[in-house]
Amino acid sequence: MDQEYTKKIHDYTTDPSFLSPVIDYLPASKTVPTPEKVLGDVSGAPNMLPYAGDVYKYFRLLAASSPRVQVFTNGHTEEGREMIAAAIADESLLKGAKENGERLAQLVDPRTIGLDDTKAKPLIDASYPVYYITGTIHSTETGAPTALMELACRLAVDDSPYIKYIRSHMIVLITPVVEVDGRDRMVDIYKWHRANPGKEWPRLVYWGHYVAHDNNRDAMGMTLDLTSNVLNTYLDWHAQVLHDLHESVPFLYDNTVGDGPYNAWIDPILAGEWEELGWLETYGTK
Ligand SMILES: [Zn+2]
Repeated sequence: MDQEYTKKIHDYTTDPSFLSPVIDYLPASKTVPTPEKVLGDVSGAPNMLPYAGDVYKYFRLLAASSPRVQVFTNGHTEEGREMIAAAIADESLLKGAKENGERLAQLVDPRTIGLDDTKAKPLIDASYPVYYITGTIHSTETGAPTALMELACRLAVDDSPYIKYIRSHMIVLITPVVEVDGRDRMVDIYKWHRANPGKEWPRLVYWGHYVAHDNNRDAMGMTLDLTSNVLNTYLDWHAQVLHDLHESVPFLYDNTVGDGPYNAWIDPILAGEWEELGWLETYGTK
């Protein structure tokens, strides 16, 4: 355990009920740096909001120091800012990612195996799922990038059975900042606010490049670069889950999908699985 980092997690957290045994410490490593290396303090420390560039810097540091982390550019924004995705898993899983993707592609479109269960079975047995997490599509919801820096660190170095199981059974993909144009402007405003105490801070007119809150409805129109970049990553990796992190101001808000009403044309099996995820994340049980 990284004693110093862990102490700060406890010092900075305003109430112990916000912590859980999974996140109330940071694992120590002799070779892999913690987010403090880039940020100068722990991830999510008070009065600190990093630009996308600093978030990327840490992910690249992880990739340089651990064979369990790979980072790649998965596109650019309208204003030319880079978007990244990091893949985290045991080295052997990352090495076999291409073949794994080819197997998943056959399962995704079972016409390729003649809808034959006996052909599907060995593919399923040999494959591992991909869990894709994205952060800060809404730039005013600022917490996800730093939370994901810390999560990436845990996934890469923690030797607890819980994390080891995740690392050896699936690839976790992380895009820490989806709305990169908006994030960097949000950090500008935050810094202005800190430098001008007592003054009314200017609001973000747009949360991104001429788009506000509705960038997360763009999957229907596909008008934004961030949508194509995330969708291409999702499709390229044949991810089973795309988990997009948002924030709610007043509550510990988990997950909208555990609650209806649902569009009647959505497959009831899918709606049932959403509800199951919602229960699991809120109560840790079905
Ligand atoms: Zn949101």
